[in-house]
Amino acid sequence: MNKAIYPGSFDPMTNGHLDIIKRASKMFDEITVCILKNTAKTPLFSVEDRVKIMENAVKDLPNVKVDSFDGLLIDYAAANDVHVAIRGLRAVTDFEYELQIAQTNRKFSKDNLDTVFLITSLEYAYLSSSTVKEIARYGGDISECVPEDVAKLVYEKFGRVN
Ligand code: ADP
Repeated sequence: MNKAIYPGSFDPMTNGHLDIIKRASKMFDEITVCILKNTAKTPLFSVEDRVKIMENAVKDLPNVKVDSFDGLLIDYAAANDVHVAIRGLRAVTDFEYELQIAQTNRKFSKDNLDTVFLITSLEYAYLSSSTVKEIARYGGDISECVPEDVAKLVYEKFGRVN
């Protein structure tokens, strides 16, 4: 089976992530969205909440699963016999960071984990989880950035009822 993993923080997941997931799900037999604990970031949502949010967002995509992992992506991939990681690329600024991660994962997995990049769709090129949080914090409209139920949860986190 042609499997791939889509790793990230997804704090919270956005329509940009969902676009990548839908496109990747047509290229592979099975996609596992893997929510990784990111020690460099203080999250808005717990890993458990992010898993639930993502599960709900992909419920109509039969070949997409959701999992979480606290550790190195290469270890998760080896344990689950997956050899492809999907990442999304927005602006050139993503490239340098992604290049380094992709090369590191390839080297430390002894060539067992390769990365496939999907270029963001134009309408989501500006979108990031951080932007969504920043806009929602100040009561801005995030309805075009995330699914409706996710927007509600994000506003709740900031004590807003929109
Ligand atoms: P990170 O793993 O760096 O914390 P995220 O959880 O925000 O990143 O995103 C996971 C993956 O999705 C990354 O590859 C990121 O580049 C990609 N991504 C994020 N937002 C978008 C978007 N709007 N369009 C396409 N890809 C995106």
